[in-house]
Amino acid sequence: MQLNNFFKFNGGVQPEENKTLSTGLPIARLPIPKKLILPLRQHVGQVAKLKVKPGDQVLKGQMIAEADGSVSAAIHAPTSGKVIKISQEIIPHPSGLPDFCITIEPDFKDTWIEKKPILWKKIDRTQLIEAFIKSGIVGLGGAVFPAHMKLRIRQTQPISTLVINAAECEPFITCDDILMRERADEIIQGALITQTILGAKKCVVGIENNKIEAYEALKKAAQETSIEIRVVPTLYPSGDAKRLIYLLMGIETPNDKRSTDLGIQVFNVATVAAIYRYLELGEPSISRIVTITGAVKTPQNFEVLFGTPLSDLIDAAGGSLTKQKKFIMGGPMMGFDLPSIDVPVTKAMNCVIESSPELFPAPKPVMPCIRCARCADACPVNLQPQELYWFSKSSQLEKAREYNLFDCIECGCCSYVCPSNIPLVQFYRYAKSEIIAQDKSKEAANTARERNEFRLARIEREKKERAERHAQKALGAQDKEGQDEKKSTIAAAMERVKQNQQENIKN
Ligand code: SF4
Ligand code: SF4
Repeated sequence: MQLNNFFKFNGGVQPEENKTLSTGLPIARLPIPKKLILPLRQHVGQVAKLKVKPGDQVLKGQMIAEADGSVSAAIHAPTSGKVIKISQEIIPHPSGLPDFCITIEPDFKDTWIEKKPILWKKIDRTQLIEAFIKSGIVGLGGAVFPAHMKLRIRQTQPISTLVINAAECEPFITCDDILMRERADEIIQGALITQTILGAKKCVVGIENNKIEAYEALKKAAQETSIEIRVVPTLYPSGDAKRLIYLLMGIETPNDKRSTDLGIQVFNVATVAAIYRYLELGEPSISRIVTITGAVKTPQNFEVLFGTPLSDLIDAAGGSLTKQKKFIMGGPMMGFDLPSIDVPVTKAMNCVIESSPELFPAPKPVMPCIRCARCADACPVNLQPQELYWFSKSSQLEKAREYNLFDCIECGCCSYVCPSNIPLVQFYRYAKSEIIAQDKSKEAANTARERNEFRLARIEREKKERAERHAQKALGAQDKEGQDEKKSTIAAAMERVKQNQQENIKN
């Protein structure tokens, strides 16, 4: 596949792709499960606010939790049925901790609410953003950032270029690839709509050169439009938004800035397809394509309703081939181990890999750092991973911060190339969480100190006010006493004058 002109970013790696495992079959639709478990937090930001209670009947596409504040996203019923409980359930999160979920028992009638396409060309911007807040659409590339936040940027910063991220650079993951092959029209229509809403002059799709069929499909769907489809080399992490912008345009986004500060907005292919379905067909976000691959019998891509238990997806893929049943969510570079196969499919779940000793051999023993600097050469953010490792390991957290620990995108390139097998990213994650925890506790201590100072100042002020009031009262009483004394002196003098006058008359 012919590459277009591109600008190579520093570093990056080329791990074994393992993508053909799951691209042999078309997208299959997973049947409605016996129950759907919908976490209230499936996005970046505030937890969605409940709109239903146990016992409520719901229709497919009905909003069951609304966005709470500007950084939040709504949740919709993926099928019709009854809300049976609202409880804490295990969710697919690295912490393995439970979170609040709505459980729906489907009625298997799959009855839609009245679907109302949005007349997006006729309504004003505020109405459009309000409509998007109700869509439940988040970034489906894995970032799960509410889409309405990315669309409202234009109010503050003009966007000149819309970049559609079709890179899908992590090994094993093929949900975007298969979506592009089968639904390229939806993606191109969604990209055109998004470009219009953002007011962007240009729209460029960036796709890696390992997706020939997807490229052909996009090219065909975009032939009557001004959308450019650009082929970039297969190099991990080209799907990182800032790396993709550099590959396509040679524009470096500084670490302390967002691409929107430079007039560039990035959307994933699955997200623009969801935007198309919401605006043109009136369908909110209730499902996604998920790759199930690795050591399952039939690796494949499925369209899955949110809330479907992962165990149903594993069964649909022919079941597990291993005894240990260890599953990774996401890719092998940035993914994490799932705590259970009972977790539900969520908006962030693009891929599930069943691990096996053949695919993921046990980690080799960790050796001391030999200062070879291979990690620095592989780092796409131009950090010094070996220094960050040293500072994180020795708990010199402020030093790690000084060396831009928070610019690390946790891509794993450094760990991948390290000849000493040091799990570098784990150290960075630990250091980041420690720093965040320390910052939070410092902030809490400062808030408590400020509150206490404020309380003491208030007590002092009230004391002073009370003392002033008493003084005023005492002064008032003194005045009254003085006036009474004056009045009785005058009265006595008057009495004396009166007596003198009477005595004079008598004489
Ligand atoms: S690649 Fe590994 S051994 Fe080499 S400098 Fe980096 S951390 Fe040390
Ligand atoms: S994980 Fe962080 S330090 Fe390592 S290569 Fe990626 S960005 Fe650089």
